[in-house]
Amino acid sequence: MTTDHAQRTGNSPTDRTPLPGDVDVAICGAGPIGAATAHFLARRHPGLRVALLTDHAAAPPDGSTADADPEHHATYRYSGGSIRWAWDDAVKREMTNETAGFVRALLSDGVELDALENTYHLLHTGELIPALNLSAARLVDHLVDTARADGVAWHPGTTVTGVRPGDDGGHVVETSRGDVRARQVLVALGARTPQLVPAHDTEAEKRQLFVLDLPVTDARERLPHTIVPVGKGFAYVLVKRTDGGVRVVVGQEDIVEDDDTGGPVDYWEELLDSGVGDVLPWLRDAGVERILWGVDSAHKKLAVTEPTPGLLAANCGSAVRSSAWIGRTLAARLAAGRG
Ligand SMILES: Cc1cc2nc3c(=O)[nH]c(=O)nc-3n(C[C@H](O)[C@H](O)[C@H](O)COP(=O)(O)OP(=O)(O)OC[C@H]3O[C@@H](n4cnc5c(N)ncnc54)[C@H](O)[C@@H]3O)c2cc1C
Repeated sequence: MTTDHAQRTGNSPTDRTPLPGDVDVAICGAGPIGAATAHFLARRHPGLRVALLTDHAAAPPDGSTADADPEHHATYRYSGGSIRWAWDDAVKREMTNETAGFVRALLSDGVELDALENTYHLLHTGELIPALNLSAARLVDHLVDTARADGVAWHPGTTVTGVRPGDDGGHVVETSRGDVRARQVLVALGARTPQLVPAHDTEAEKRQLFVLDLPVTDARERLPHTIVPVGKGFAYVLVKRTDGGVRVVVGQEDIVEDDDTGGPVDYWEELLDSGVGDVLPWLRDAGVERILWGVDSAHKKLAVTEPTPGLLAANCGSAVRSSAWIGRTLAARLAAGRG
């Protein structure tokens, strides 16, 4: 985490604003889902008292794993940040169209999201699909910043450990820094959500992003975001800004069947051997500079569970590309349940 970054987001490990005793909505987890919901709740439904509780002090600059924890609590830090909006499926199309429009408006307002727009090339079909690639960390920062400016109480460095029923029909959120009473709770802890809300049974998927040591020429800066079908899954190749530079990165999805979510494992060779190296031979000589990886939800649309009234758990395997739609949808649902 850079000093500038900490100052910009106003969150540091030493930030110890006392937790509020009572709120209307407690949002647990400030990833794309939690941050977007806080943003839309504050902007479109003013008057609600909202607290955003999250365990990390601050998201690092895009691509940096300097303070990333080994258990991958924050998947968005490793995200490719790709938003593509051409889908056969009407719901996915709506989710991503709305987010693309939201992001474009931010970019035209001068908000820094490190965005690169290029084309998404579906190999073997010859289809060219437009896509926008941005820094998920910067998008989340922006959503948190605007939510705070609109009155959301921001509590980084707060680990949520449980939610129990309150005496008044509401809920009590238990955290490393004390309890918060809330009429409604949104649990959006990514891969950790089922630990708090066991009824929210999501299938986990291990995803890796390989940052390569390939030189990126001006011509390659416009490299189409390319999908390569591999085995039962696919890999995607794109150019992305990481640590202030432009890099070629390769992401894998559904390729490695592995229950080990405990530590970084390098599947680069396996990925090349599964076919990526045959389709794109120039990748063969590339070394891996860094592996960014996280444990994501296999479900690619928004999944919401409400085991007891007012306790919501939400998950989505592509929450970055759908974040504006998800944030607006969950904010409307929480605002409707204000009682
Ligand atoms: C390699 C890779 C590439 C990807 N590429 C894309 C892509 O191109 N486009 C796309 O749309 N999606 C992509 N994804 C998926 C996307 O990153 C996830 O869908 C998204 O991050 C999920 O958002 P979330 O808010 O549910 O959870 P997360 O991003 O995991 O955020 C959860 C938040 O909760 C916090 N938290 C966790 N536990 C606790 C706790 N106990 N107490 C308090 N806070 C806690 C975390 O710090 C974090 O802030 C990719 C994922 C990976 C791994």
